[in-house]
Amino acid sequence: NPTTGKYTVSFIEGDGVGPEISKSVKTIFAAAKVPIEWESCPVTPLLVNGVTTIPEQAQESINRNLVALKGPLATPIGKGHRSMNLTLRKTFGLFANVRPARSVEGFKTTYDNVDLVLIRENTEGEYAGIEHVIVPGVVQSIKLITREASERVIRYAFEYARAVGRPRLVVVHKSTIQRLADGLFVTVAKEMAHEFPDIKLQTELIDNTVLNVVSNPAQYSDAVSVCPNLYGDILSDLNSGLSAGSLGLTPSGNIGHKVSIFEAVHGSAPDIAGQNKANPTALLLSSVMMLNHMGLYEHANKIQNAVLSTIAAGPETRTADLAGSATTSSFTEAVIKRL
Ligand code: NAD
Repeated sequence: NPTTGKYTVSFIEGDGVGPEISKSVKTIFAAAKVPIEWESCPVTPLLVNGVTTIPEQAQESINRNLVALKGPLATPIGKGHRSMNLTLRKTFGLFANVRPARSVEGFKTTYDNVDLVLIRENTEGEYAGIEHVIVPGVVQSIKLITREASERVIRYAFEYARAVGRPRLVVVHKSTIQRLADGLFVTVAKEMAHEFPDIKLQTELIDNTVLNVVSNPAQYSDAVSVCPNLYGDILSDLNSGLSAGSLGLTPSGNIGHKVSIFEAVHGSAPDIAGQNKANPTALLLSSVMMLNHMGLYEHANKIQNAVLSTIAAGPETRTADLAGSATTSSFTEAVIKRL
C-alpha cells in the first residue's frame, strides 16, 4: 500500500484452535511493528456443482495480495467435500511444499542437532487421484509424473538452496523400481544441474535417505532435499518427528508461480480448541517463513529469535504440548517481552 507503506497479506484464520493461534500471530506482529496489514479471508468451503470451491471473495483477496498466512482447516466429513487444503493447492497452483525441520532448544528429543529442509512436489505423483477397479479384487492406482511439474519444483529447490546458502541438493527417489516415473524426475534434475554450478547435485534412493536421516540427521544440515509427492509426505513427517516431537512446532510454505500460502502443519486440534492451550509456534514459524519469502528478513529474525528463546527459557513459558504450563496468551506475552 503506497499510502501506508505496508504490505497487505490475506489471513485465513481457520477452524478449531485457528483463531487463538492467529490472534497470537497478530499480537506479536503488531508488537514487533511488522509493516503488514492483515486482510481477513474466511474460506468456509462451498460445494459448486458437487466440487469443493473456495469462496470468490477469498480467491480474489489471495490473488490480489499474492501472499497468505493460513491456520488449520477442519475437513468436513461425509458431506462430499474434498479437503480444503487440496482445493487451495489446486486453485492457486501451489506446486512446492517447503518443510523445514529444526531442533528446538529447550525441548529434548532424540537429536538436538536437526536442521533439515525438504521440498515436496505438491501436485502429482500418487496424489493425481487416478484409480480404477479393473475387476473386483483388482485395483490400479496410477502415479503421474510429468516433466513440467518436475522441472518447476526442482528449479525451485535449486533456487531455494542457493537463496538460503546450502551448497547441496539431494534428489530423493526410487528410480531402481519406478524406472520411468522417478527416472524422469532424476533425469530432469541432472539436466538442470548445469544452470546451478554452485549447487552440488546428489541423487539418493529413498530407503537410503530414511536410514541416513534416522541415524544421523546432521549430515543433511548443508543440504536441501527434493522429492516426488508421496515420498515428501512421509519424509517430511519423519523429519518433523526427529526434530521437534510436537506438531505444534512445524511450519511450512506452499509455493506457486504467483501465490504463496504459509501454514502450520498441524490440524485444527478440536480436542483443545477454545481452551487457550494451543501452541502458536508452528503458525508463528510459518509467518517467519512468510516474512523471509517477502524479503522482510530483519522482522523475520527478530520474531524467530523471540519465539525460540521463549521456548528455551523454561517450562513456565512453554505450552502444555511441550510439557510446560503456559497458555496461548501467556506464551504470546512472553514472546513479546523478548522481541
Ligand atoms: P491435529 O493436528 O488437529 O491434532 C493432532 C494432535 O496434536 C491433537 O492431540 C492436538 O491437540 C495436537 N495439536 C495439534 N496442533 C497443536 C498445537 N498448535 N498446539 C498443541 N497441540 C496441538 O490432527 P487431527 O486431530 O487428525 O485433525 C483435526 C482436523 O484438522 C481434521 O478435520 C483434519 O482434517 C484437519 N487437518 C487440517 C490440516 C491443515 O489445515 N493443514 C492438517 C491436518 C489436519
